[in-house]
Amino acid sequence: MAVSTFKRGLRLNTRKHATEGKPVEMVPEPRQVVIPINQHFGAPNQALVKAGDKVRRGQKIADAVTPGPMTVPVHASITGIVKKIEVRTQPNNTNGLCIIIEKEHPSGENNDAVSTTGNPVSDDTDFLPPLDPFICTKEEALTRIRDAGITGMGGAGFPAHIKLNPPPSKKIDIIIADGAECEPYLTTDEAVMTEKPATLLKGIAIVMKITGVMKAIIGMEDNKVNLIPMLEEEIRKASYPGVIQIGLCKTLYPQGGEKMLIKALTGREVPSGGLPMDAGCIVSNVGTLVAIAEAFTLGKPLIDRDLTVSGGACKFPKNIRAPIGTLLTDLPPDFMDIDYPKLRKVLFGGPMMGQAVPAVAIPIQKNTSGIILMTEEETVQDAEGACIRCGRCIRNCSCRLVPVIMNMNLEAGDLDGAIKAGLMDCIECGSCTYICPARIKLVQRFRVGKQRLRIRQQAVQVRKQAVEAAAKASTVPPPAGGGTQKN
Ligand code: SF4
Ligand code: SF4
Repeated sequence: MAVSTFKRGLRLNTRKHATEGKPVEMVPEPRQVVIPINQHFGAPNQALVKAGDKVRRGQKIADAVTPGPMTVPVHASITGIVKKIEVRTQPNNTNGLCIIIEKEHPSGENNDAVSTTGNPVSDDTDFLPPLDPFICTKEEALTRIRDAGITGMGGAGFPAHIKLNPPPSKKIDIIIADGAECEPYLTTDEAVMTEKPATLLKGIAIVMKITGVMKAIIGMEDNKVNLIPMLEEEIRKASYPGVIQIGLCKTLYPQGGEKMLIKALTGREVPSGGLPMDAGCIVSNVGTLVAIAEAFTLGKPLIDRDLTVSGGACKFPKNIRAPIGTLLTDLPPDFMDIDYPKLRKVLFGGPMMGQAVPAVAIPIQKNTSGIILMTEEETVQDAEGACIRCGRCIRNCSCRLVPVIMNMNLEAGDLDGAIKAGLMDCIECGSCTYICPARIKLVQRFRVGKQRLRIRQQAVQVRKQAVEAAAKASTVPPPAGGGTQKN
């Protein structure tokens, strides 16, 4: 099988050995979950429950403040009692409202003891009714995906029902199942493809049915070639319409980025400022595709996720399946033990694109692909130096940007200059930071720059709405009687 790739990119030490090939272990049911009410890219949610309410696993507990397309609900991941709703630190390092649910003891008392039975979480569920994706309409299918709270599990939490419904002007002809998993340490996508190949294929077939696309490619790096015979056998056994193929790419960072994967598997370029749909593709993480299949066959909302827990300060590195909202610190030490004296850094996600967080007790959410507990030796502690104009960041940027110039513009407070230099085309892969001999935190600056742009755009939007509201008010005729009150 031919192995394709994209230009530039880094050969990293993959550090996957600690969890590679290990099965996914269901965590013992946690005594509590801390569920952020906003876990998606889009309009904000509000809580639908209050402290003291009993909730069942799968029950909707938060949804949009105002209905709209960019909204995704959130569901209870365990059956129990809503203990409180309060602001907590989330994996993206911001503070946000979380619903804290405590497991209910069979006697009716809340139980602080942690289950060590290894049993999956409670059977007392409130799932959606199963729905046949091959009979229902496209609208019903998209509604099901939204109602199940499905967002991209490999990235920024983009609503899946939006991604699967591109504007009619965008002609899609290839679906890509992203199983590249190019980040060091992470092995969850590999575990998903190993353990749930039939469900993955069903998820792909559902997406093909919804979009009307007849071709799909399962993209993976060539460090997973051992999965090919098994996946090919599953493809042969399945009788879905259309063609599903396997596409092998070089093990090269950031091969899992949408633009890189599209280039490697189809030879197409996503234009500057564009999206995969501008290259005729929809890219979906393999975990998301499995979640889509389960939303139909089981009626199961996105309430559990598979992730890798690894790093030198993790005593039992493993792939786990955890209810959304689980805190690692709530898991029993014979299942998950942390070497606190050695722990120097906690990362949500991989070491290249992940987010450093201030504590271990931060909830797992829909897009948490891994938690890496790093030691001193695994972290880069060097202080930032001055740019030596070596150009390495330019030579290694797979998006062909000029990171040093973007950074100079941002340092000078020139956001527009940074945008002109390509800031919005940056996929935040972190390659430039990794390669910079002066240890300049380039990607961190680019994230802040993009955040500044979002704030600026929101301010413009608010001003526009205020002007429109004022204009509307001035055209409203005064109430009868000239607006004077009669006593
Ligand atoms: S500029 Fe952006 S896309 Fe280019 S290497 Fe840096 S983080 Fe990656
Ligand atoms: S890699 Fe670092 S030191 Fe070299 S040009 Fe880029 S920012 Fe400057």
